Amino acid sequence: MGKFNMWMQRILYGRYGIDSLNKFLLTVSFVLIAAGLFYHGKILRIVTVMLLIYIYCRMFSRNHVMRARENQKFLEMTSDFRKNKGGSGSYRSGTGYGAGYGSYARAARPQKDKDHKILRCPTCGAKLRVPKGVGKINITCPHCNLKFIKKV
Ligand SMILES: [Zn+2]
Repeated sequence: MGKFNMWMQRILYGRYGIDSLNKFLLTVSFVLIAAGLFYHGKILRIVTVMLLIYIYCRMFSRNHVMRARENQKFLEMTSDFRKNKGGSGSYRSGTGYGAGYGSYARAARPQKDKDHKILRCPTCGAKLRVPKGVGKINITCPHCNLKFIKKV
């Protein structure tokens, strides 16, 4: 094994090597190779070979900047999935809840008091804070003394 590692190191010297994207692609190619044992499709074989060629090209590439950029893109695309990997819920319901909660929090932020509602006086336009969810209430504007009924 030691000899193999030295051989690998010599081969990969100055090359890009294996990153997260290559590890992922290797896993996919192993799955495809395993699938090829049971399903002898031409397309599957072509895809497997193309994928392996792509992995080798990335591994032996000397353009580290480009490869690192690809890897970064891959990590960004899969970051949600990897974060939720350990969770109990499925990936879809997890993000759905997250997005829903986020929009709820954003919508609720400007209105600090959820038990009150801000109305505008129909004549002078003054802001009036009224209790919310109590039905029809009689409101008297403190600025112009207008009395009006509003459902809240
Ligand atoms: Zn008024």
